[in-house]
Amino acid sequence: MKLENVLEEYSLAMFDKSIAQLDDRECYVMLLNYVKKQLDQAPHVEGKKKLYYISAEFLIGKLLSNNLINLKIYHDVKEILEKNGKSLSAIEEIELEPSLGNGGLGRLAACFMDSITTLDLPADGVGLNYHLGLFLQKFENNEQKEYPNPWMSENSWLNKTDVTFEVPFKDITLPSRLYEIAVSGYNGKVNTLKLFDLDSVDETIVESGIGFDKKDIKKNLTLFLYPDDSDDDGRKLRIYQQYFLVSSAAQMILADLKAKNIDLHDLHKYVVIQINDTHPSMVIPELIRLLCQEGLDFNEAAAEVEKTTAYTNHTILAEALETWPMSYLEEIVPQLVPIIKQLDALAKTRSKEEATFIIDKENRVHMASMDIHFSQSTNGVAAIHTDILKNEELHSFYELYPEKFNNKTNGITFRRWLFEANPELTAFLDEKIGTDYKKDALDLQALLQYKEDEKTLKQLLDIKAIKKRQLAKYLKETQNIEIDEHSIYDIQIKRLHEYKRQQMNALYIIDQYLKIKEGIVPERPITCIFGAKAAPAYILAKDIIHVILTLQQLIESDPLVRKHLRVVMVENYNVTKAEKLIPAADVSEQISLASKEASGTSNMKFMLNGAVTLGTDDGANVEIHELVGNDNIYIFGAKADEVIDHYKHQSYHSREYYENDERIRKVVDFITSEEMMKLGNPSLLQAVHDDLINKDWFMTLLDFEAYVDEKQKIFAAYEDRMAWAKKMLVNIAQAGYFSSDRTIAQYNEEIWHLK
Ligand SMILES: *Cc1c(COP(=O)(O)O)cnc(C)c1O
Repeated sequence: MKLENVLEEYSLAMFDKSIAQLDDRECYVMLLNYVKKQLDQAPHVEGKKKLYYISAEFLIGKLLSNNLINLKIYHDVKEILEKNGKSLSAIEEIELEPSLGNGGLGRLAACFMDSITTLDLPADGVGLNYHLGLFLQKFENNEQKEYPNPWMSENSWLNKTDVTFEVPFKDITLPSRLYEIAVSGYNGKVNTLKLFDLDSVDETIVESGIGFDKKDIKKNLTLFLYPDDSDDDGRKLRIYQQYFLVSSAAQMILADLKAKNIDLHDLHKYVVIQINDTHPSMVIPELIRLLCQEGLDFNEAAAEVEKTTAYTNHTILAEALETWPMSYLEEIVPQLVPIIKQLDALAKTRSKEEATFIIDKENRVHMASMDIHFSQSTNGVAAIHTDILKNEELHSFYELYPEKFNNKTNGITFRRWLFEANPELTAFLDEKIGTDYKKDALDLQALLQYKEDEKTLKQLLDIKAIKKRQLAKYLKETQNIEIDEHSIYDIQIKRLHEYKRQQMNALYIIDQYLKIKEGIVPERPITCIFGAKAAPAYILAKDIIHVILTLQQLIESDPLVRKHLRVVMVENYNVTKAEKLIPAADVSEQISLASKEASGTSNMKFMLNGAVTLGTDDGANVEIHELVGNDNIYIFGAKADEVIDHYKHQSYHSREYYENDERIRKVVDFITSEEMMKLGNPSLLQAVHDDLINKDWFMTLLDFEAYVDEKQKIFAAYEDRMAWAKKMLVNIAQAGYFSSDRTIAQYNEEIWHLK
């Protein structure tokens, strides 16, 4: 039967109406049901050995368009809807974005599941089913306020199962229930995202924003991702969550094996577990515990688990490397304590170096250390990041286990970040270079033959203009902000963190503001767009948001400045917003302090969509730089080795920059100027001002001058439209390397060996 007739039948059966008579909500529900049925009937990826990708986060985004693309019915459905007077993009607005992730790490897990399935590799993603997500961000009085972000409406992609496991804590045993979301690949097959939950969780205990009783584990366990850990109860709740996740995962894995009658001594031949950052690290002692229960002795079990697991490191920020006080573990999961102690003793037979100890002098457990000793692989996520792990952060481990260390430069799925987010560019590529690049992203290089072709370059500029207009319309509709589509869209969207240096961008805006006030105006208006959530307990990050929002208000109310410079902070930045912002960007801001951004992936999404990077030599920017060459990227600032040196010798003092550089002093002091203090909250503005002078841990002032100069250069380059279009073209053409299909092929060849 023709697809149109099938959908008509669904429509009639569900609502007793034809498609044309459905409202958008009904139409969404109809499509959801149809697509879920297709996924239900699609073949599962099968194979002897299976990957379990365990992660605290899966930032999957909306799924309707993604699934339509992977089922290869996107265009047909779009056409059928249009014929019936409907628009797919309006219908998509109905879908709620699952708020199951925080940032890059969670989005990476989602891109990976798409690529794993597409490459026909058998895998489960394993995570938790957070009812209220991370949080919903709203701006009130120029400050971030947090609210619950419910997403599990009656009509969602989530399927409840009757599979349950018993998770034993010291004082209480809690039943975990398995929920499933089908993960479609671009090959028509499916894998599964498995999310564990607790039936007794009660959303009504949440009050005043995202506050709740942190001790009521039965009711709060899977309410939120990353609950506030600024107090003991919050930190303990995180341990409850982590153990709930890994115990459920380990029990499920062993149940899968038993169902196939596989000898547990052969675990590593049938299973590989990828530990995404340290949140799931307790899977190592938990699996050992369960294997011992099944009759293996400790050494056998530890050796088997070491061969079965692999660990991905995502950060070198010391404060982000998790350690747990042994006393917490004794209080919550005492059954793991003897195992961790035995692992620590075993590790100490391998190395006497304190830096490699699992349990330190203060009786804290270093999760990453446990991972590195007792898994077969430790990987970084970009070349420079892996080098820093080997040579600096994890050097003692690297000397002990050189063969365990490897790099897997991150990637992004082009199904979402090109085909779905930018159908206009996709259609253009199809026409110019054929569709081979959809299977092998490196074929995008075929575009390079058009580098000097004026018609092609003009078409690229036209597509960018369309995407910029669409974004302007979206911002008008959603935030009632009107932006100038002929201005330069300069975009920085990512989690708010000092190391990512949104504050440096804010200082640039102040610099421009002061210049415009003096009568020096930019050649073309600039629209500085931000999107960022700050962790609720990260005070300085929230203060930086306050600075940006106050600047936004100041400039909006100044008609003279507003003509030349705008600041727009997008509320509740998430995958849906990213899909609209990235295709419209001219300039991609990737300005982390060199050595601190492990990889970044928004840098890749921007490049693929024809934005030009303004960035430091950090993370995957380094590899982007190598691929596009000096003419097609704008790199500035201190290099990683210089920065590492400053930390080693404590030789950076921001106050010296503040005192010795008049321009820096002026922009920093503007934060607490009369006009800012009048609009903003003086104590928050003061906090940012004072931190920049007295601490500035991520060296904003060190790079400020170089940043302003380079930004001047990139904006000047924008005015030669043909030369700029050429830069866009080279960026798109060289983005193929950053397909997550490439990343996953490397994981499989070098770590997983699934097929
Ligand atoms: C890609 C992505 C990120 C990661 O951004 P970085 O700039 O690489 O830190 C974070 N959040 C969302 C919603 C994303 O899509």
